[in-house]
Amino acid sequence: MRIITRVLFVSALAATVLPSLSAAGATPSETAPPGARSVISHVSMATRGHGPQGVPAPARTSAAKTTNGISYHGGPVLTSAPNVYLIWYGNWSGNTARTILPTLLTGLNQSPYYNINTTYHDGASRKVPNAVKLAAETTDGYSQGSTNLSDSNITAVVSSAISSGRLPRDTNGLYFVLTSADVSKSGFLTSYCGWHTHATMGGADIKYSFVGDPAANSACSMQTTVSPNNNVGADAMASVIAHELEETATDPDLNAWYDQRGYENADKCAWTFGTTYSLANGSKANMTIGGLNFLVQRNWVNASGGYCALSY
Ligand SMILES: [Zn+2]
Repeated sequence: MRIITRVLFVSALAATVLPSLSAAGATPSETAPPGARSVISHVSMATRGHGPQGVPAPARTSAAKTTNGISYHGGPVLTSAPNVYLIWYGNWSGNTARTILPTLLTGLNQSPYYNINTTYHDGASRKVPNAVKLAAETTDGYSQGSTNLSDSNITAVVSSAISSGRLPRDTNGLYFVLTSADVSKSGFLTSYCGWHTHATMGGADIKYSFVGDPAANSACSMQTTVSPNNNVGADAMASVIAHELEETATDPDLNAWYDQRGYENADKCAWTFGTTYSLANGSKANMTIGGLNFLVQRNWVNASGGYCALSY
């Protein structure tokens, strides 16, 4: 089978992350890979560095130069602002996620956090810009059902949104399928919290991502009782969305930036949050985006030897 999807693994230690967040002056050396906390089932961690059956691929060393803990493998990066499309799958009626997450995506544009991605470039030294555009949103009322959705069901959701004309066919787009908390999907909450990949749809290379609403499930929700925007599911999704977005910008076709283990930029800092602050409702946050507080994981800076950070 082809391994074509990059995933954000479930944090088995999510419940133990928060206590450490409250420690003042969190150590800046949280560069350890998230693998130790990964729950692995059908999704192999041995993605790009290995062939389809987990056999090491030959001759991968020639092109890759590693100076900052992550290597360029020759593929494209998104050298203009990605157009983000949101597909609200299931029932999001009355859910404040529908304002929280668009606010996040709009606010990431030209933010200190997203600026980390400008440390990545393509083979012609064209940088990933510090720019994101929330282009359009649409809904999908359970076209693929609500139970045990497969990866191909997610692909179908994207394909349908495009072929029906509800969203444009955009090779510079990133299409997020956001499933409501009542929707179950194979692998979600057990193997991963989200993933991104690409596929040819209508002759175009379409980049898309799955992110589910974990509600108060601590497998993917960092704060399960209180959260910065009083919506634990949406606040958890914010960090996963940021993760998948920055990976797509720097590795849209899964052949650009990743390390020797196959970890993309955000994978290298998954479930680490740096310095946090407390909000009035008792929750923790680490950045303000678009006027809202969020707790968003750090991202890997491809400079100065490489390190996880909240800004650049
Ligand atoms: Zn990832």
